[in-house]
Amino acid sequence: MLDLFCSELFLGFAQRRLFERGLPVFTYHSIAAPSVGVKDPFLYVTPSRFSQQLETLAEAGFTSGTLDEVAQNRNNRGKKVVITFDDGYLNVLDNGLKILLQHKFRAIQFIVADLIGTRNEWDVKHGDIAEALMDVSQIREWLAAGQEIGSHSSTHRNLSKLNQVEAREQIFGSKKKLEDTFGIPIRHFCYPHGKWNPMIRDLVGEAGYVTACTTEFGVNTSATAKFELNRIFCLSEYEMMRKTRHRIMRKLTRK
Ligand SMILES: [Zn+2]
Repeated sequence: MLDLFCSELFLGFAQRRLFERGLPVFTYHSIAAPSVGVKDPFLYVTPSRFSQQLETLAEAGFTSGTLDEVAQNRNNRGKKVVITFDDGYLNVLDNGLKILLQHKFRAIQFIVADLIGTRNEWDVKHGDIAEALMDVSQIREWLAAGQEIGSHSSTHRNLSKLNQVEAREQIFGSKKKLEDTFGIPIRHFCYPHGKWNPMIRDLVGEAGYVTACTTEFGVNTSATAKFELNRIFCLSEYEMMRKTRHRIMRKLTRK
């Protein structure tokens, strides 16, 4: 019953209106049940919930779009959605790919170029649970299934805290590494931790990317700055409330 209720809220009246005004770009991370002890369980969407969300979108007439379409999108009367995954987790390949294919959706995974085949070191060093990142052959499997990849920098640092030389290496270096490894153009960038500034944004453009994703909430039209794309965290309103409560409780209990 609760699942049905959440599913309604996921694509309720307000969301439908918003999604027809501009292209929604959804943010996901892991497709799995959250491991015990994770700091942010809301970065995990279970396979059944993910399947339900795609089914809800498909039933409402939405089909898969790509980040390349943002520039031509004056509104979203064509009812497209873009699905993005940050970090390149193996659980997306293992649990999410068949669901995407089943519902005829495509997605882009933003890969941390120097950490391919390792784990989420940027979280682990702060005491979070380790999650496996796809290795080269697993990324090839993802691509062979008709899915896309983009860059999520070289090592997932907060780019807004780096000097220009370091930032350039993260933005240009990750693009070159991914292109050399997989033999395809890397056209889209996603700011790690959602952090950027005008210097970082301009380097992304200079490197030859076509778009860059932020973590700002909203949909996108041809009027949206292409290196400042908005995204929507894929939670129902009910989960949003739980997430806010979870954050407040963590702050209150932090010593
Ligand atoms: Zn990330």
